[in-house]
Amino acid sequence: MIKLILLILCGFVFYSMISGLLRPKQSRKPKNRSNEGEIMVEDPQCHTYLPQSDAIKANINGQQYYFCSKKCLREYKQAQKK
Ligand SMILES: [Zn+2]
Repeated sequence: MIKLILLILCGFVFYSMISGLLRPKQSRKPKNRSNEGEIMVEDPQCHTYLPQSDAIKANINGQQYYFCSKKCLREYKQAQKK
C-alpha cells in the first residue's frame, strides 16, 4: 500500500515537473514581462541599451530621450548647455 502511495506521489512530482517545464513556453499571458520583445532604447550619454520601461524619460528641446540613470540625464543636460 505504501508503495502505491509513493508511486502516485512520484508520478505527481514528475507530472508537475513536466507541466512546469512546458507551461512558460505555451502560455501567452503577458504576466511575466521579460526583456524579450521589449523596445530597447539607447542612452545618448553612455550609449547603453536598456528596456524602455527601465529607462528614465526626458524631454530635451522637444525631443524624447531615454537615460539609464538620473546621473546620465544630468550629465547629458549639462553637455547640451555648452
Ligand atoms: Zn547612461
